[in-house]
Amino acid sequence: MGILAEDVERVRAASPIDVVVGESVGLRRQGTRSVGLCPFHTEKTPSFSVNAELQVYHCFGCQASGDVITFVRETQNLGFREAVELLAGRAGISLRYDDARTTGAARKRSRLVEAVEAAAAWYHERLLSSPDAAHARGYLRSRGYDGETVRQYRIGWAPDAWDELVRGLDLGADLAKEAGLGLVNSRNRLQDVFRARVLFPVFDARGDAVGFGGRVVPGIGRPNEPKYKNSPTTAVYDKSSLLYGLNWAKGEIVSSGEAVVCEGYTDVIGMARAGIGRAVGVCGTAMTERHLTALARFGRRLVLAFDADSAGQGAAERLYQWERTHEVELAVAALPPGSDPGDMAASDPEALRAAVEHARPLLGARLERLLDPPPASPEAQARAASAAAALIAEHPNDIVRESYAGQVAARLGVDPRHLLGRSREARRAQPPAPAAAARVRESPALLALALAVQRPEAVAEVLDEILFDEPATRAAFAALAGTATFGEALAVAEAEDPKVADLLRQAAVVEAPDDAEDVVAVLARAAGTRALRWLEDEARRSADPLHFQAEVGWLKRRLEELGEPATRSAAVGQLVPFLRQRAQEAR
Ligand SMILES: [Zn+2]
Repeated sequence: MGILAEDVERVRAASPIDVVVGESVGLRRQGTRSVGLCPFHTEKTPSFSVNAELQVYHCFGCQASGDVITFVRETQNLGFREAVELLAGRAGISLRYDDARTTGAARKRSRLVEAVEAAAAWYHERLLSSPDAAHARGYLRSRGYDGETVRQYRIGWAPDAWDELVRGLDLGADLAKEAGLGLVNSRNRLQDVFRARVLFPVFDARGDAVGFGGRVVPGIGRPNEPKYKNSPTTAVYDKSSLLYGLNWAKGEIVSSGEAVVCEGYTDVIGMARAGIGRAVGVCGTAMTERHLTALARFGRRLVLAFDADSAGQGAAERLYQWERTHEVELAVAALPPGSDPGDMAASDPEALRAAVEHARPLLGARLERLLDPPPASPEAQARAASAAAALIAEHPNDIVRESYAGQVAARLGVDPRHLLGRSREARRAQPPAPAAAARVRESPALLALALAVQRPEAVAEVLDEILFDEPATRAAFAALAGTATFGEALAVAEAEDPKVADLLRQAAVVEAPDDAEDVVAVLARAAGTRALRWLEDEARRSADPLHFQAEVGWLKRRLEELGEPATRSAAVGQLVPFLRQRAQEAR
């Protein structure tokens, strides 16, 4: 059952965001906004901003973004409904519930979750009691899983049969497919997705069953089957952002500030059995930035309990980048090479706990592996020094690089200057790092959006969609232009792409510039220059370059006028229809 949309709106209206946020964050007023230290990441200078008038917050440090309900959800680890109920209680509003009036998306979601939940119960029961699951039960016992563990994680058994689940639950083809439980085979028959596998149900952060990870049992099923198989992507199961075990681990992650990231289901369960209840697992995929942002809401230190080098060279660079942009600390658990946390939990839980406890920063862990065992001959030392210099070179911070270079040089008995020199050479050979987030956040397009959000009257006549080059800012502006209020624009953007909605909230809290005309002129100049380059290109390729001369000349004069305060407004007015025309021709 859902809360009436009307009541959600009443709760929102009765819960001023600056008041609710102010109860846990010290806010200082700054013009139209209030700023404070972000509750979602550790920082010393405030980058968390609230716009009370538009009822949104945004953090420039970690990109956390939302409204009063999101804030309560994410600071208190609640689901949407629980957060609304909490705020309603605060405001003295009694809520009405009505299933029929919940939105289509929410209805669909709950239908899929119900189906996956029913499947989880069915598979679990099958494992516990069915004769055909005896072999699977034996296998789990051999891995050290007792009945309590099996019940706690609701582990199940998918029989070695075609369609027992979809028939047993009487799932229609549409629902079975949408929930990732069934598929229609080449003979047009509905069959189960999972066969002859031990199943680990996967729950989202709030504990709803959304999908499965299935493992083959040695000796059962067809040979050459992949060891693990996961649910196909559905409206509720997306492995690029889901983390197995987050529903159980989030409490301990919040209280310890640390999460342990594993590669698989059995690793997460093994960690918990070894007393580490803050472990989560990626579901059959490499760790993505979305996994990281999902985790960073609960804890800022992430211990990787898998081979961080296995994803190759570029992987480390990406991890360093994430450390900076999301202000998280990444460490690597010192697991023995080739070891499996799931197995270690049974064979040597003490060693597993020690490995997590002694996790080292990413670069330190990689160097350790390189230098252990220590190279014996001078030639091996020279090779190790070169390899270490290359690893050190990847780190973006020069103080960190110098410090590690000193440590490695001392261990290898070489001159630290020599090592640093090598590392500098290696750095020069690398492509430059992407622009810092600080600069992106003040881009002219964002400032123009800020004006469109905060002082729409100042830009209503001059700002046009065509002036935004980047798809996300363009979509954000289009949402604003097509709706009457900021709230409606947010709803439209949210439906299209949550990133666009984030951008709108960011625009609501960024300091809008005083000179609206100037910002629009900067955007127009960028768009005009792009068009000029395009025209000049066309002219070069054309058999009749003179044909373009008049247009190129006209455009150059408008670009000059953009630089003069007296003429810039008129120039924008002339450029916009020209650019629209161009865009149409280019299509
Ligand atoms: Zn933040």
